[in-house]
Amino acid sequence: MLPCAAVPAPREVLDSIDRRFDATIEELIDLARIPSVSAAGFDPAQVERSAERVAGLFSAAGLHGVEVLRVEGAHPYVIAEWLDAGPDAPTALIYAHHDVQPPGRPEHWQTPAFEPTRREDGRLYGRGVVDDKAGILLHVAALRAWLDTQGSLPINVKLIVEGEEEIGSDHLAGFLRDHRERFDADVLVLSDTANLDTGIPSLTTSLRGIVSVDVTLRAIDHPIHSGMWGGPVPDATTALSTLLARLVDDSGEIAIPGLFDDVPELSAAQRAALDALPFDEAAFRRDAGMLRGSRFVGDSRYSVYERIWYRPSLAITALEGMPLATAASQLIAEAKARVGVRLAPGQDADRVTRLLVEFLASDPPHGVMVELEADTAVPGWSTTSEGPAFDAARRALAAGFGRDSVEIGCGGSIPFVGPFSSVLGGIPALLLGLEDPPCNAHGENESLDLDDFRKASLSSAHLLAELGC
Ligand SMILES: [Zn+2]
Repeated sequence: MLPCAAVPAPREVLDSIDRRFDATIEELIDLARIPSVSAAGFDPAQVERSAERVAGLFSAAGLHGVEVLRVEGAHPYVIAEWLDAGPDAPTALIYAHHDVQPPGRPEHWQTPAFEPTRREDGRLYGRGVVDDKAGILLHVAALRAWLDTQGSLPINVKLIVEGEEEIGSDHLAGFLRDHRERFDADVLVLSDTANLDTGIPSLTTSLRGIVSVDVTLRAIDHPIHSGMWGGPVPDATTALSTLLARLVDDSGEIAIPGLFDDVPELSAAQRAALDALPFDEAAFRRDAGMLRGSRFVGDSRYSVYERIWYRPSLAITALEGMPLATAASQLIAEAKARVGVRLAPGQDADRVTRLLVEFLASDPPHGVMVELEADTAVPGWSTTSEGPAFDAARRALAAGFGRDSVEIGCGGSIPFVGPFSSVLGGIPALLLGLEDPPCNAHGENESLDLDDFRKASLSSAHLLAELGC
C-alpha cells in the first residue's frame, strides 16, 4: 500500500457536523439520562433501554443492519453496519460501550449524575457522558453527516457497542469469535481512551495490565480485650499492616523481589514519543487531587508518565478491619485487604500473580494465618504506531483538532483490547478517546469537554476519508 497524501472530509460533511452540533449534544444528554449501570444490583432494564436508544440513533443516522443483540448472561450489544462502499474498500470496525459505572456518592455530585448539565466551563457533567456515550455519539455525528451530505461513506463500517465493558467484558471475546464473519475488518477503532490533555488529540499505543489478590489475615479466633490480652497476643490489623508495609520500600516503589525482571525496555520510538510530551506538574497534581506537601511515589529515575504507563505500580485498593464507629478497644481477630498491581505492558500477569501470592504467604508476621485469593489477572497490551492506519489516524486527528496528535500510553487496563485484535487476526487497533485529565471518569462529577467532543466528531469524519485513501 502506497502512503497517501491527506484526504480530508469534504467541507459539507464538516459543516453538517457543526450545524447539528447542539442537536448532537442534546442526543448525548438524552442518552446519558438513562442510568445504564451494568454492575450487579442495578436495574438491567436501564441497560436494555440505552441499547434501544443507541439502536435508534444508528437507524436515524442511516446505518443498516441495526440490531440489539442479546447473549445469554450479558447485557445487550448494539450492532450496525454500512457496507455499500463495496468489497474492495477497507472496512473499519468501530467499538464503544453504552453501559456506565455506578454513580458513586450522590452528595458529591454538584448536579445529579443522571441529569446531564452543561456548565459555564464548556463541559457537560453527568455519569457516562465521556465514558463512553460521547464515544458513541461522535461517530454517529460523523457517519450521519457523511450519509446526509454525500449519500455514502468512503469506506465500509461496522459498529459494535457493548453493554458490559464496565464489568469486565466477560462475553466479548466469545461473542466476537461466534460472530467472526460479521465483524471481519481491516482496522479497529476503539473510542474509549484518554487524551493527554484537553485539546491534545492522542493515540494510545499501550495499556497496562492488572493483577489483584485478596488477603485475609486471622490472628485469633475471636476479638478480645486489648488491655487484658494486649502485649503477647497478636492482632490481625497490626499484623496485616506489617505484612502490607513490606510490599513497598520507603519511596513507595514495589519491593517484591523479581517483579521488575520482565518489564520490557522501551523501544526507541516509545522513548522518543515519551520525551516529546509536555508535562505540567502543577496541572497534573491538581487533576490528581494531590494535597499540598504530598510527593510523587516510586522510582524518580523514571518520569511521571513513564511510571504510569510503562512501569508496574502497587496499591492497596481495599482495607477492612474494624470501623472507628464500632471500635471497642479490642484486639481485632480478622482483617482483609485487596492488593492491586498494575503491570507494565508486556509483563506476564500469571507470573506477577504468583510472585505476589508467594511474597504475601511467606513469613507471616508472628505466625498468623494468611489466606490468599487471586482475583484478577489481565495482561497489558501494546502496539507499534506504524502503518497506513496509524498514518490515517494522525492525519485525521490533526485535521479535526487543528494540531498534531501525540502518542501516549494508558495506565489503565482495557482487558478486551488484546483478545479483540487477535480474534480479528491482529488487525491494527486505533485507540482514540475523549477522557482528559479533569474528566473524572468513574468518579463523581464526570464530565466531557464539549469543544473536544466537536473536534473528535470532525476527526471521525476525516478518519473515514483518510482510511479510504
Ligand atoms: Zn469506558
